[in-house]
Amino acid sequence: MSELIVIKIGGGEGIKPDAALGEIAGLVRAGVRVVLVHGGSHETNILSEKLGRPPTFITSPSGHTSRRTDRETLKIFEMAYCGKVNKGIVETLRRAGVDAVGLSGIDAGLWTGKRKSAIRSVDADGRTVVIRDDLSGRVERVDDRFLRLLLDDGRTPVLTPPAMSDEGVAMNVDADRAAAATAAALGADELLLLSNVPGVLRDPEDRSSLIETVSSLDEVRRAAKGRMKNKVLGAEEALSGGVGRVVIGSASGASPVADARSGCGTVFEGAIA
Ligand code: ADP
Repeated sequence: MSELIVIKIGGGEGIKPDAALGEIAGLVRAGVRVVLVHGGSHETNILSEKLGRPPTFITSPSGHTSRRTDRETLKIFEMAYCGKVNKGIVETLRRAGVDAVGLSGIDAGLWTGKRKSAIRSVDADGRTVVIRDDLSGRVERVDDRFLRLLLDDGRTPVLTPPAMSDEGVAMNVDADRAAAATAAALGADELLLLSNVPGVLRDPEDRSSLIETVSSLDEVRRAAKGRMKNKVLGAEEALSGGVGRVVIGSASGASPVADARSGCGTVFEGAIA
């Protein structure tokens, strides 16, 4: 069976996916099966501002950050993720000769899971409040059979949040962890999480403090703050789900995919304690 890799390209500020998309076209031409997952957080922020609903974020007591997603925000989120970003990527890939198919996690019920019924959030004064109406959750199941149908037919799935909750409501999910669940469900050889930083940094302010090879999960868990926490969690989930290798690397430069595959970034491989 040909090699299968899952590549997630972040949607943070400053990420330009074109170089990675060109490389993905090359991989697909060479017979590698690729599933692409992408984010859209920066485009969502821009659109939210334009529509007069500036984004707000939730910080959990353990330091995880996520977008506050009420019903109106979810609609804006879909416009950015499933609209502008997903269709832009599909257009670029198709122009490069890739038979790309853009799908959100709600299409065909591709990504399903539980909505969070209560989220603890630390407010500006350090008080913890409980939010019960947030439309966010976590991918627990992936329809890998449907993805295999597409891949076996020579198509390249381009996947994006939202996912479908068990109650039948679209929900915001973290794209890194959704990519990890997808890689695990497909038994992918490799998962690349490409973002606006070179990998997990020992000091988030110092780009030269890259952790290259993960020998202790404690070290990366301690270093990862805010949104990096989800990437590290995703890497751990993918590895324990049977994915051969995970690299958290940069989406920038002329060849971000080849760079990450050759080990530039933070590499998680084998049994790590
Ligand atoms: P994307 O949108 O590409 O998925 P995120 O913005 O969600 O990326 O996550 C990357 C961000 O994580 C970085 O821009 C940085 O601000 C933050 N971060 C927190 N801790 C670290 C760390 N130890 N190393 C690198 N980045 C970190």
